Amino acid sequence: MTNLDINILIVEDDPQIRNFIAYALKGEGLSYKAVQNGENALSLLVSEKFDLLLLDLGLPDIDGIQIIEKVREWSEMPILVVSARDQDREKVSALDLGADDYLTKPFSSAELLARIRVALRHIRRLNKDKENTIFKVGELQINIDKRIVELEGSEIHVTPMEYNLLTLFFKNIGKVLTTSYILKEVWGVDYGSDTQVLRALMAALRRKIEKNPAKPRYIMTEVGVGYRLIDE
Ligand code: CA
Repeated sequence: MTNLDINILIVEDDPQIRNFIAYALKGEGLSYKAVQNGENALSLLVSEKFDLLLLDLGLPDIDGIQIIEKVREWSEMPILVVSARDQDREKVSALDLGADDYLTKPFSSAELLARIRVALRHIRRLNKDKENTIFKVGELQINIDKRIVELEGSEIHVTPMEYNLLTLFFKNIGKVLTTSYILKEVWGVDYGSDTQVLRALMAALRRKIEKNPAKPRYIMTEVGVGYRLIDE
């Protein structure tokens, strides 16, 4: 998949931001369609194939959050949320519902394009890695088939919970995972709001995989949101 095959849908009611995004995509040779409200977005999404959705949360007609819910009923396409700084709660709900990443306004075109590259790498990897069981980031590697974690070529011992947590990150490389999403996936619904258990598990895992757990290189903390395994 080259840039030429990529089709992006921009949903943004602010004409200035819409044009800014369109201009940045054009410069990268990415094709796109741009709409200014949720209704037009939904009708295009059912009639045309898009590889990525760039979605503003504050739209004049339908809430961006509802659009994510609808899209996730039938599609796994990457959704990159664009939100204003005062929409932090909405941002977290968007990620909980399955958005892949977010950009906070104002953002630069370099930032926008970097996030798009991560999202596109993710879909290429999904297409390719259906049966692949080895994932690698930097010097950290996991073999899902054999349940082996390696750092700099040597196996490291992790507990079953640490393994589950790490696997979740490797299956979502580059994607922001919210605290409540991780709790639900690793512990199940009952632990819904106990963030302390996650912080403790994360600290234990970081001591094993990070040279300096205070300055992590692999799993980054997204303040007020959750965590992200970096995509190199
Ligand atoms: Ca808006």
